[in-house]
Amino acid sequence: MLFANPFTRPGYWFKGSLHIHSTASDGALTPDEVVDWYQSRGYHFVALTDHDILSEAQSPANDFITLSGIEVEGIDQQAGLYHLVGLGLRSRPTPAEKAGVSMQEAVNRLQAAGGLVWVAHPYWSGQLSKDLLEIEGCMGIEVYNGSCEVENGRGFSTVHWDDLLTAGRRVLGLAVDDAHWQNGCKDAGLGWVWVKAAALTQEAILDALEQGYFYASSGPQIHDLQLDAEQRDISIRCSPSVLVDFVGDGPNSCRISAPPGGTLTEASYRLQNHQRHVRAACQDTHGRWAWSNPIICRARPPHSLVHAS
Ligand SMILES: [Zn+2]
Ligand SMILES: [Zn+2]
Repeated sequence: MLFANPFTRPGYWFKGSLHIHSTASDGALTPDEVVDWYQSRGYHFVALTDHDILSEAQSPANDFITLSGIEVEGIDQQAGLYHLVGLGLRSRPTPAEKAGVSMQEAVNRLQAAGGLVWVAHPYWSGQLSKDLLEIEGCMGIEVYNGSCEVENGRGFSTVHWDDLLTAGRRVLGLAVDDAHWQNGCKDAGLGWVWVKAAALTQEAILDALEQGYFYASSGPQIHDLQLDAEQRDISIRCSPSVLVDFVGDGPNSCRISAPPGGTLTEASYRLQNHQRHVRAACQDTHGRWAWSNPIICRARPPHSLVHAS
């Protein structure tokens, strides 16, 4: 299996918000106000990702930390407008001139500064799945960006995700706020990750993110996800949901719906004979989602956003 399953590893669950702006760039709250907002709502970690401004990793409390972060953007001759989020950088990346730096070069610069790199809101940016197919060195993409959804109706990039997975790429999925606070808190508290890590330190959180020990949510909780590799059965337990999707490559996908007016808290699915991967997602009565990372059932080299070792 190329992907780690957070539900089969020891550790602790920590809730985090990984794409946020402040007055350091175009957000309306100061960095301290941003940290207070999340800390007071039960989050365990955040990354401030202001445009071209690298934030610092800090540990303001025993039960709350900040990761270093930044968002950079540019225009690629082929991929068009791109935004990238870098997390856990040790130094400021070489600035990307707004135009003229390829997406791959911008990824390389973030990586050279020690960061984990994520493609921000590809649907909002207008990128096509094929634009991302040849990019190397990214951990994954924002499959849900709350700000892009509530402001523009372009927050869901799950089709990009499934296209890249179907092409055999290793792509993890984040849900984020991308909060700018320009209309109060309208674009905050919309998307987050639950990370299973050994401890609440930047190093442990980054390690868990890199390995895929997390799931993304805009509301529901996933309590368990298990794959019986021999039987090829995948099963999920979740908070009350109106439906569960098991999404695989191409037509190898299945939706299980609760009875009309009801909810379900568990579901299972038997993988098809030639199915290569599957990811689970559940939707609650408010239309909010939780997304597991994909589990690879049948590895298909060699294309990989990050080369599997
Ligand atoms: Zn952006
Ligand atoms: Zn942003």
